[in-house]
Amino acid sequence: MRAARLAGIAAEWVGARWRWSRLRGPALERYRERRARAIVRLALERSPFYRAHWAGHDPDDWRSLPTVDKRGMMEHFGAFNTLGIPRDEAMETALRAERTRDFTPTVRGVTVGLSSGTSGHRGLFLASPREQAVWAGTILARALHGGFRREGWRVALFLRSNSNLYESTDGTLIRFRWFDLMTPPTEAVAALNAYRPHLLLGPPSLLGLLADARERGELRFAPERLVSVAEVLEPQDRERLEAVFGAPVHQVYQCTEGLLAVSCPAGSLHVQEDLVHLQLEPVGNGYVTPVVTDLRRVTQPIVRYRLNDLLRMDDAPCACGSPWRVIRSIDGRCDDLLAFEQADGGTRPFFPDTIRRMVLLADGGVEDYQAFQDRPGHLRVHLAVSDDAPFDGVARAVRASAESIVAGYGCRAPVVEVERGLVPVAPGAKRRRVRRLG
Ligand SMILES: [Zn+2]
Repeated sequence: MRAARLAGIAAEWVGARWRWSRLRGPALERYRERRARAIVRLALERSPFYRAHWAGHDPDDWRSLPTVDKRGMMEHFGAFNTLGIPRDEAMETALRAERTRDFTPTVRGVTVGLSSGTSGHRGLFLASPREQAVWAGTILARALHGGFRREGWRVALFLRSNSNLYESTDGTLIRFRWFDLMTPPTEAVAALNAYRPHLLLGPPSLLGLLADARERGELRFAPERLVSVAEVLEPQDRERLEAVFGAPVHQVYQCTEGLLAVSCPAGSLHVQEDLVHLQLEPVGNGYVTPVVTDLRRVTQPIVRYRLNDLLRMDDAPCACGSPWRVIRSIDGRCDDLLAFEQADGGTRPFFPDTIRRMVLLADGGVEDYQAFQDRPGHLRVHLAVSDDAPFDGVARAVRASAESIVAGYGCRAPVVEVERGLVPVAPGAKRRRVRRLG
C-alpha cells in the first residue's frame, strides 16, 4: 500500500520535472487541450451539476463554457463532485477533523478538507489518492529546488490544518513536520530549534512572528528558504523576512481550486501551466482576475471557475528560462477594492496596493497598518508606529497622504480616521490588511 503510494508520487515527480523543463509552445497547448477536453467529457458524464450547467453549450468549445464560482460549487456540492459525495457528509468529516485536530479520516477513500485561498474564502475540497499523488509529486518537483540531498529535506509547515496531503510523502528523502497555526509561539520556536528545517513554510503573518523571535535571539537557526502561503505577501513583509533570515522568500499559491503557481529558483511565481489553465480577465489598473480550469482533478472537476483574487502579471521573461507565465503579485480579493466618491456622485475603485502605499510611504514611523472601509469615501487606518516616532505626527502624515492621493484621482476629500494600534487577528485566521467591511 505504502510502496504503491510512493511509486505513484515518484511517477508524478518525474513527469512534473520533465514537463517543467520541456513542455512549452505548441506542445504545451496540445497537452492542455487534451487534458481540458478529457476533464470536460468526464464532468459531463459524472457531474449532474455540470451537465445541467452546460446544457445548450458546445463542450468542445470549453474556453467559453459558463463559469462557476465558490457559491455554486458549495451549493451544489453533491451534484458537483463526480462521486456523489453529499456536502453534509464531507463537511461533517472536515469539521470533525478541525475539532479533533486529527486530519486522517477520509470519505469513501477520498481525502476531504476545508481550505481557504490566499485571500480568504473557504471551501471544501476532495482529493482521491491519485490526485494526492499528483499534488505531492508536483510540489516536490517544483518547490524543492536542487533535487534531493544526502541527509534528506526537512520541511516545516505552518498551516491552519494538517491534511493527508502532507502525510502522503513519508520517507527518508523528505520529512514534513506540520505545526498547527494555533501552536503557542514559544513552543513552536523550541520545536524549530530542535528540528532545524531547510524549508520553512507558512503564512507571512506567522513568518513575521518567527522573524521577531529570531531578532530576539530565541530562534537560533535560519532556514535555507522561506515559502509564503495562504495570505497576501506584501513587499515590505518580504524584504523584512529576507533581511532577518538572510534567505530568499518564495511563494506557493494554492487554494481549493488547485495548485496555481510556485516560485522558481530565480524567485518568480510561475503559473503551473500543466496543472491549471488560467484565463485572465482585466479588472482595471493592470490587475487581472483568473478563471481557472484544473487539468488534472476529476473528483471535484474545476472548469472555468471564477476566482475572486486580484493579480498582477509580469510580462518580462524570467531569468530561469521558463516561458511559463509569471505572477508579479497577488494583491487580495476583488471585493476588497475600496471606493471613494467622485465629484459627479459616482465612485472610483482603489486597489489594495494603492492603499498600502498611501499609508506606508506617508511616514517612516509607520511599522505596520490596517485599512478598513465601512462605506465609500471613508477610511479607517490602524497604525503600529515605531517607538521613537510621535504618534500624532505620523497620524497627521497618513491623513495628509490619503487626502492628497484620493484627490489626485479626482475624488472628493475622504473622511480619514487614524487609530493607534492594530486590531488583533484571531489565532489561525488570515491577515487581510486592506478590507472592505459590510
Ligand atoms: Zn522562473
